[in-house]
Amino acid sequence: MELHPCACGATEAPAQHAVRAEGAALRSVWSGGCARCGKPRSFEFVLLDGDGPSEIIGAAEFLRISDAAARRVPAGAGRSPQAARDLRRAVACLREVLKFFAAGAPVIEGVSVSRERLQARLAAYEELLAGA
Ligand SMILES: [Zn+2]
Repeated sequence: MELHPCACGATEAPAQHAVRAEGAALRSVWSGGCARCGKPRSFEFVLLDGDGPSEIIGAAEFLRISDAAARRVPAGAGRSPQAARDLRRAVACLREVLKFFAAGAPVIEGVSVSRERLQARLAAYEELLAGA
């Protein structure tokens, strides 16, 4: 949603967010009124679609979304449904970032964190999620 602002320029995601699994794909769906102008908005994109990296959203953007979602999770967390949703989002986006490394890129534009650190971060999120 941050990548697709409303016609009024607002970039806040609508209130409703759901991640749906469809076979091997993970679909991220937002819907609801625009926080600023109230215009109904709905947007969805495929987060995980097979093994290759996303061709729609760059690795740096996925990392930014993942970090933003993870920051919303309160410390000691994974307790509320919202925290679990944010964690799932952080995990899904981080997996996307790692796909770029898996595709053979030694260095990824806009990503200054090493693959090892990203994998450690992913493991930490998954652990939190498992305890949610
Ligand atoms: Zn708007």
